[in-house]
Amino acid sequence: MATAISQERLSSYNPATGDLLGSVPIFSAAEVDAAVARARVAAETWSTRSFAARNEELDAFRHALAAAADTIADILHRENGKPELEALTEVMMSLGHLKHAVARAETAMAPKKVSAGLLANFRATISYAPLGVVGVIGPWNYPLNTPMGSIAHALAAGNAVVWKPSELTPLVALEIEKIAKQTFALPDLLQVVTGAGATGAALAKAAVDKISFTGSAATGKRVMLAASERLTPVLMELGGKDPMIVSDDADLEKAAEAAVYGGLTNAGQACISVERVYVAEAVYDKFVDEVVKQVRDLKVGGDDGDLGAMTSEAQVKIVKDHLDDAVAKGAKVLTGGPNAISGSFIQPTVLTGVTHQMKVMTEETFGPVIPIQKVKSIDEAVRLANDSRYGLGSSVFAGKSARSIAGKLRAGMTSINSVMAFAGIYGLPFGGVGESGFGRIHGDEGIREFTRVKSTAEQAFSLPINMMSFRQPKDAAKRLRGMIRQLYGDGVVSKAGDLLRKFRR
Ligand code: NAD
Repeated sequence: MATAISQERLSSYNPATGDLLGSVPIFSAAEVDAAVARARVAAETWSTRSFAARNEELDAFRHALAAAADTIADILHRENGKPELEALTEVMMSLGHLKHAVARAETAMAPKKVSAGLLANFRATISYAPLGVVGVIGPWNYPLNTPMGSIAHALAAGNAVVWKPSELTPLVALEIEKIAKQTFALPDLLQVVTGAGATGAALAKAAVDKISFTGSAATGKRVMLAASERLTPVLMELGGKDPMIVSDDADLEKAAEAAVYGGLTNAGQACISVERVYVAEAVYDKFVDEVVKQVRDLKVGGDDGDLGAMTSEAQVKIVKDHLDDAVAKGAKVLTGGPNAISGSFIQPTVLTGVTHQMKVMTEETFGPVIPIQKVKSIDEAVRLANDSRYGLGSSVFAGKSARSIAGKLRAGMTSINSVMAFAGIYGLPFGGVGESGFGRIHGDEGIREFTRVKSTAEQAFSLPINMMSFRQPKDAAKRLRGMIRQLYGDGVVSKAGDLLRKFRR
C-alpha cells in the first residue's frame, strides 16, 4: 500500500490490494517553475476573456468530466481505496462546485459602488481582478473534490492553475489534466505537477500569485514559510477535530445515523469527519446503543462496502496509536478497536469512557473511530467542543436550543440536525479557524479569494475647496477642528454636504 518514490518517478498503488497502478514523473523545482511560466502566459489570455467566453469553455470542461465520470470514479476507487459509491459521490460534488463557480463568477466579481463619505464629489468603486497563476496543493483523502474547490473557483475567476496532487493519488489528477488539455483552447490553463513534498515546496516558492493549500496543519506551516520568501498569499484548508453535540431533546436515531455517517464516511479520512461526540447524560445510553446497532450493520471492504481501505500505512499507524492510547487510559471498546485492524482495513470503532487526556479526543485521528463522551450539561458540551486547537466543522443535534448551541461553537462551519451539510451547499464558504486554517473555498467568498481587490476613487466634479491640496484658506485648521468636533464628537451632522458648506464659509 505504500507509495514508493524512485529517483525520477513515483509509483501509485491500490491500497486495498497492493497492486501497482502506475507511475508518474517527479517534477523538479526547475520543471515546476517552467510550468508556472507557461501558466502565466495562459493566464494573460484567459484573464482578458469575457465571463461568457470563459464560462463556455468551463461548461465544456464540466461536460467532458461528466462524460468521464465512471473512469474518474474508478481511478479514485482504486487509487484512494474508497468504495465506488463514495468515489461517484466525490465526482458529483466536484462537478457541482465547478457548475456553481461558473454560475456565480460574474456576480461575485461585479464592481461595487460604496459611499465616498466626506469626499462627496467622488465616485468610489471596488473591483475584483484575477490574480494570475494560482498554485493548488492537494491531499489524498478527497483527491478530486478538495482541489476542485480551489481549481473551479480560481479558473472561473480568470486565473490559470498549477496543481500539485498528493503523491498517494497522482493518477486521478493526471486524468483531469488530460481532459482539461483536450477541452481548453489554452492547453496550459490547468497543469498538474506530480511529486511528493519537495515538488509541493517548489510550487510554494515559485512565482505564483497565491497558494491554495489543503493538507495537515504541520505541512501548512511549512508551506507558509516557503511562500513567505516571495510574500505569496496563502489559503490554508487544514485538519480538524470536529465535535458533534447531542442534546437531550434531539432525535436520537437521526443523531446516531449522522454520527455513524459523519464519523465513518471515507473510512473516517475526512477533514470534516465527526471526530468526537458529546452526549447529554439523560440520553447517553440510548444514543450509544443506537450508534452501536447501526455500526454493526456496516460492511468493510469490497467494491460495494460501506467502508473502504485506508489510503496509507502511515494513517493506519496513527489510528492504531490513538486507539492504543485511549484503551491504555481507560476507554471502553464497543465495536472494532486496536485489535480489529487487518492490513489497510480498520473495523469501525466505537469508544466510550473517553476523556480529553486521550489523543483520540484532542488530535486528528482521521480514521473510522467514533469516541463518545457523556456530559452533564450542554454548557459542558460546548466547553469541551471548543477545547481544541482546531475549528473546522461541527454539528449539533437538538430541539429549540440548537441554533443557540451552534452560535457558541468556535468553528468555521456548523450543521444543525444534520452532518457535513455545509460542504454540500455550494453557496456556503468552506474553511476553518485556529489550526484548521484561514481563507475560504466555495461560494462567492471562494471566488473572490482568487481575485485582487482594487479600490478606485474617481473625482466626478471639482469643489471650490480641494482637500487633497496644500492650497487651503488661512483658517483651515480652525475649521477642521470644528469639523472634527461636529463629526466625531458631540455634535451630530447628518450630511457630509452640510459640513462641506460650513467648511467653505
Ligand atoms: P499532507 O499535509 O501530508 O500533504 C498535503 C499535500 O502537501 C500533499 O500534496 C503533499 O505532497 C504536500 N506537501 C508535503 N510536504 C510539503 C512541503 N514541505 N511543501 C509543500 N507541499 C508539501 O496532508 P495529507 O496527509 O495529504 O492530507 C490529510 C490532511 O489534509 C488532514 O489533516 C486533513 O484534515 C486535511 N484536509 C483538510 C481539508 C480542508 O478542506 N480543510 C480537506 C481535506 C483534507
